[in-house]
Amino acid sequence: GKTLHLEVITPDAAVLHEDVDFVLVRALDGDLGIMPNHAPLIASLSIWPLCYDKGGKRQCVTVASGFLEVHDNTVTVITPASEKPEDIDVARAQSAEKRAEDRLVAHAADLDVTRAEAALQRALRRLDVAEKY
Ligand code: ATP
Repeated sequence: GKTLHLEVITPDAAVLHEDVDFVLVRALDGDLGIMPNHAPLIASLSIWPLCYDKGGKRQCVTVASGFLEVHDNTVTVITPASEKPEDIDVARAQSAEKRAEDRLVAHAADLDVTRAEAALQRALRRLDVAEKY
């Protein structure tokens, strides 16, 4: 049958360019599963893993916001940061998690809560992907 081309691109690198059978992402308004012959679509992404099925196997990468376009059996994700499980520095993510948690707990008058929560989400999702995939 038909396959999907999946491209995940960051300012630093092309993280994925693969032919896949299925893509699962979390858009701002909920989960989005994309199979071949999906209608054209643009969506904003949450800080949440992108998973894809290939040859009966599910694999995931981190995605830290950005957007996705589906067109002509190509799924293109443009995101500020994305890592494969083997490229995640766990110690770095653990210290980022602690830093964000400490900021949120201390709750200084000038705290940017949205920014601290986003940093925490990035760290937690990196730890998930590094551990599970
Ligand atoms: P930190 O505070 O540790 O820099 P961050 O969430 O602020 O984390 P980002 O701004 O999301 O980092 O990413 C900056 C760059 O560093 C991106 O290229 C991203 O892929 C990479 N990066 C961030 N954290 C990790 C990690 N734990 N392992 C591998 N690469 C990482």
